[in-house]
Amino acid sequence: MWNLSRKDLKKKLDRVFSLYIRLRDCDKKGIVRCPLCWAKVIWNWTQCQNMHYVKREKMWYRYNERNCYAGCKRCNVVLNGNYEKYTLFMIKKYGIEEVERMLYDNKTYKIHDYELEEMIQHYTIECCKIAYIKGINISKYFSKKILSLYYKY
Ligand SMILES: [Zn+2]
Repeated sequence: MWNLSRKDLKKKLDRVFSLYIRLRDCDKKGIVRCPLCWAKVIWNWTQCQNMHYVKREKMWYRYNERNCYAGCKRCNVVLNGNYEKYTLFMIKKYGIEEVERMLYDNKTYKIHDYELEEMIQHYTIECCKIAYIKGINISKYFSKKILSLYYKY
């Protein structure tokens, strides 16, 4: 579709998926309550990040909505994922069996390039939808053409 290398496709998808998670988890004022330490942060990347529970090296979990929540930069970077708190949060949310299944899932799922492209499209549209519904300005993230197509619902 875009003739990008796999590396660039992943980079593009990382960016839009992170945006999606942060938009999904913020309120209409753009505030995210970090699920690990309860700090309030602005959805913008400088304060707020997409935190992966199962590490993002496992491709299947890298773009898995159940594995990712928006949280504060301190938990994600300074506390290196705040893993104990994140584990408790995940167990409360999904139950111990599901969390164990995710953690010990060693299957390798091959994600093809065309699937990366499809996910980029999907999450681009989702970002526009959520941002529109919440009234959040995302104009610096997408081209005017994309916004005119999808920033309305
Ligand atoms: Zn936090």
